[in-house]
Amino acid sequence: MPSRPARYAVIGNPIAHSRSPEIHAAFAAQTGQVIEYGRLLAPVDGFVAAVDAFRAEGGLGLNVTLPFKPEAFAYARRRTPRAEIAGAVNTLAFDGDDVLGDNTDGPGLVADVQGRVGLALKGARVLLLGAGGATRGVVRPLLDAGVERLAIANRTASRATALRDELAARLHPADAARLSAGGLADLDGGFDAIINATAAGLSGESPALPPGAWRGAMLAFDMVYGPKPTAFMQAARAAGVPRVEDGLGMLVGQAAESFALWRGVRPDVAPVYAALRERLAGPA
Ligand code: NAP
Repeated sequence: MPSRPARYAVIGNPIAHSRSPEIHAAFAAQTGQVIEYGRLLAPVDGFVAAVDAFRAEGGLGLNVTLPFKPEAFAYARRRTPRAEIAGAVNTLAFDGDDVLGDNTDGPGLVADVQGRVGLALKGARVLLLGAGGATRGVVRPLLDAGVERLAIANRTASRATALRDELAARLHPADAARLSAGGLADLDGGFDAIINATAAGLSGESPALPPGAWRGAMLAFDMVYGPKPTAFMQAARAAGVPRVEDGLGMLVGQAAESFALWRGVRPDVAPVYAALRERLAGPA
């Protein structure tokens, strides 16, 4: 009797919009892995029960999205160093009683920026907008990639400084010294790349940046993605930033890291990104 495919899923609330099943199906087809990957909608107060049930049915791994990344962190018995620093987990791997938690958002971002986009992060000055879960996930990987300076700026400045202090306490002092934080109003340019990790795009808005903030930027990158340029991308173009990108490549990149963790095989992201971009754009 043929054995059942290895089972994986993405868990969140809401979850119907998630592109992860099609990305992982494409990785599986490309690498010859036999897996089944679905969507798991959990009640906002029912994360642990839903994960327990998934594991009891033989599930081997989960991607975790809003609002459950902090709960997935608590659920993991072991965590990778990057997940430990982030305080958030977007990938769980199950092996009997063992539960490994990882955070692949940062490696997905770094791989996309340095690979597909082609901006070297070593020595770069990077501005990260937002102080939520997405920012948490990418700070350590950006520092590991060798950025010279990483500034976190948030609409609520106190949240940025609190996050900076929390992360800095877990970093090597030399890494912590490269990390700064503040509000949006005082920004005055001098960054090679501006990465929007706020949720503003979900309501069709761009963070309110002073005009000088864009000065010198070579790349504006929005973690949000969609069929049309986001408000942040439009603002960056209007300010003359030469390269403007959305978060679709990061999404594919983080999925590839999860797939490699689960299956021990690293998929080629480029054709999967290209096909997804085409589908997202819809009929010409
Ligand atoms: P979150 O924890 O809810 O963080 C929200 C952040 O956005 C806060 O810093 C908040 O500022 C800021 N914000 C919200 N609306 C704003 C506005 N109108 N103007 C300025 N700042 C605003 O969300 P998250 O988990 O960090 O996720 C952020 C975004 O990243 C989401 O859209 C998510 O989909 C995306 N993301 C994409 C990927 C990918 O693979 N492409 C991966 C991870 C996340 P205050 O503190 O002032 O409220």
